Amino acid sequence: MLAVSTSKTPLLGASLAELTEWVQQQGQPAYRGQQLHQWIYQKGARSLSEITVFSKQWRETVADFPIGRSTIHYRSVAPDDTVKYLLTLADGQIIEAVGIPTEKRLTVCVSSQVGCPMGCDFCATGKGGFKRNLATHEIVDQVLTVQEDFNRRVSHIVFMGMGEPLLNTDNVLAALRSLNEDVGIGQRNITVSTVGIQNRIRQLAEHKLQVTLAVSLHASNQELREQLIPSALRYPLPELISECREYVKTTGRRLSFEYILLAGMNDLPEHAVELAELMRGFQCHVNLIPYNPISEAGYQRPSQQRIQSFVKALQDRKVAVSVRYSRGLEADAACGQLRASKS
Ligand code: SAH
Ligand code: SF4
Repeated sequence: MLAVSTSKTPLLGASLAELTEWVQQQGQPAYRGQQLHQWIYQKGARSLSEITVFSKQWRETVADFPIGRSTIHYRSVAPDDTVKYLLTLADGQIIEAVGIPTEKRLTVCVSSQVGCPMGCDFCATGKGGFKRNLATHEIVDQVLTVQEDFNRRVSHIVFMGMGEPLLNTDNVLAALRSLNEDVGIGQRNITVSTVGIQNRIRQLAEHKLQVTLAVSLHASNQELREQLIPSALRYPLPELISECREYVKTTGRRLSFEYILLAGMNDLPEHAVELAELMRGFQCHVNLIPYNPISEAGYQRPSQQRIQSFVKALQDRKVAVSVRYSRGLEADAACGQLRASKS
């Protein structure tokens, strides 16, 4: 039995084959599946009663089958045109999604959980606690919502909103399939960011996806990482790095490491040397993210000069590196600032 046919599970996230089977189970001809698919994914239908190509009688029969769309609770635009959305889900929970436009791209930063249980010390989401995993349709919905609001096709997706995607692997994998096949976003334009959960990077590798994996490293040694990321205690750095090496081997994909720069904490010359050592012989890229301040943590962003010397120390050691300044700072929409509040 299909997931969508067993109960009133929302239809969003279902494939063309699943939707076709569902309409047939409802006594409709197969081609209605194609129409349903188009109305859900291209026309943004929010309820089956809107789908005017269906007979009025059938629409009435299935009217209370949910499609699974959220509503926009709050929207704020930063001076750099980044838009932060607070979205209300069916059970009243609120999550964040962010739309980041450039001339050529429209990137959506999606959440994978309501809150996050990992409790990283520098992250507003982590400070806010954890409520629940997002369902597949709640992940796909964020992309459709941003696409509709910008009235422009989404080209890229980053799983860098609220939550730890690899704690919600099944729904994230189902959402990746739907975003790729139903919404039409190339796997190579999708990045999944993880702080690293034991064995999950290995499991992800087995799916041989073409998505980019970004691993939030943030420290060049175990002791430092434990101070920043509580889960590092149970999942030591050498183990994480060896899973990452396996990932590159299995998938043939280059991997990105994210490294937040916190002044005086992990941005010293010796940290750059240690980091370069960890990256040795690795097909990877390091993204340095100057820290975005949050009120609950006492860290500071390093000076430009410190950031540049860190970059140079890595480059001198042949590490591929770039500095990524988060967009949307003024709307509290930048990395680590997501906390589902209006402030
Ligand atoms: N849980 C996943 C994905 C969401 S966090 C992960 O941690 O990778 C997405 C990115 O934002 C991560 O690289 C995370 O470390 C970064 N981030 C969190 N807090 C930040 C802050 N205050 N300033 C800058 N980046 C931050
Ligand atoms: Fe969770 Fe990522 Fe924030 Fe850590 S950085 S608390 S894993 S969202």
